[in-house]
Amino acid sequence: WNYHVTHFVTSAPDIRHLPADTGIEVAFAGRSNAGKSSALNTLTNQKGLARTSKTPGRTQLINLFEVAEGIRLVDLPGYGYAQVPEEMKLKWQRALAEYLQKRNCLKGLVILMDIRHPLKDLDHSMIQWAVESRIPVLVLLTKADKLASGARKAQLNMVREAAMGFVGDIQVEMFSSLKKIGVDKLRQKLDSWYSE
Ligand code: GDP
Repeated sequence: WNYHVTHFVTSAPDIRHLPADTGIEVAFAGRSNAGKSSALNTLTNQKGLARTSKTPGRTQLINLFEVAEGIRLVDLPGYGYAQVPEEMKLKWQRALAEYLQKRNCLKGLVILMDIRHPLKDLDHSMIQWAVESRIPVLVLLTKADKLASGARKAQLNMVREAAMGFVGDIQVEMFSSLKKIGVDKLRQKLDSWYSE
């Protein structure tokens, strides 16, 4: 698919207001500031497609983009922002779990983690919910340019080993929007999910 022609379709305040459960959806999730917006903008080659968060945790809408008719990218709100009240966090966690469990058109989940701080609690939960729902996962270790190549490799191996602890379809790759690392891997994975 040509991801450069991706365009915004709609926003939803929660999973109950998403468009019809048809076509194929791939969702992007990650802690606030993980580099999710930057990754979406890099993939689509559009600077302003997903708004990069100046105030982490502010974007609470689910944003839907269309690559082609019925082929959607879903930008889920970032999680784990410390400033959000506990009750809202729990509410959002339940909604995320429900989305992963019930959304039939969801064919893949991209989880973005800062390569320097991967596998926080909610990252674990997201992977767990996805594998329980038989949804394949691509973990992108973002901002790979921030580490020297040795440290980068070490982090990749560490997360790949941790991923083997889950009984599911999980691929782990390095990513950098700044240095365009891993963009081909991301594109290939999306292509495979969108062609099923
Ligand atoms: P989001 O909250 O997950 O959408 O994260 P953003 O895409 O807004 O990025 C958060 C911060 O990380 C911003 O200051 C970005 O400039 C920075 N950032 C994102 N991707 C990269 C990257 O590949 N390399 C570096 N060095 N910084 C990045």
